[in-house]
Amino acid sequence: MKIVCLDMEGVLTPEIWIRVAERTGIRELRLTTRDEPDYDQLMRRRLSLLRKRGITLRRIQGIIASMRPLAGAGGFLSRLRGKVPVAVLSDTYYEFAMPLMKKLGYPVLFCNGLSTDRRGFIADYHLRQPNGKREAVLAFKRMGFRVAAAGDSYNDLAMLRAADRGVLFNPPPKIAEECRSLRTTDSYPGLLKELLR
Ligand SMILES: [Mg+2]
Repeated sequence: MKIVCLDMEGVLTPEIWIRVAERTGIRELRLTTRDEPDYDQLMRRRLSLLRKRGITLRRIQGIIASMRPLAGAGGFLSRLRGKVPVAVLSDTYYEFAMPLMKKLGYPVLFCNGLSTDRRGFIADYHLRQPNGKREAVLAFKRMGFRVAAAGDSYNDLAMLRAADRGVLFNPPPKIAEECRSLRTTDSYPGLLKELLR
């Protein structure tokens, strides 16, 4: 029996922080774990920038509500869910992701959480567990599933390597080159084929 695990940003939706950076004009919010490998440092920087510029969680949610899934993502996901159980595994936060999940028909999503202060600023972030994507894959394996997984970036590699079958979707060229042992595809029909193989 098989289950498929999908990364969210870059596979089903655009990158949330990049959109927030564009809409707020705060260029530093574009920084990713590729620029700052220490995730905690990166998040502290983001949260302090948001507070300094007066940007509340509600404002960010307004920006995210205007985003759409990637073209073709909805059709891909519903075709996939017609064949196998699917879990979306993301490093994002429920408070950010839900408007996008709604547009994808509310697939199962395992991610992290945020807390806010009384003024509505994001006060802190809460990881459900360290290495959540990889841990989910290992847990599904313990539940007797064979796991196929797809992601696009560095934060997916542990998940892809823990899976029985890992597929890179539309990765930056540098990652594709570093991970030649993983299958790579850049189209939804190609991804569907690889994940159902
Ligand atoms: Mg991604």
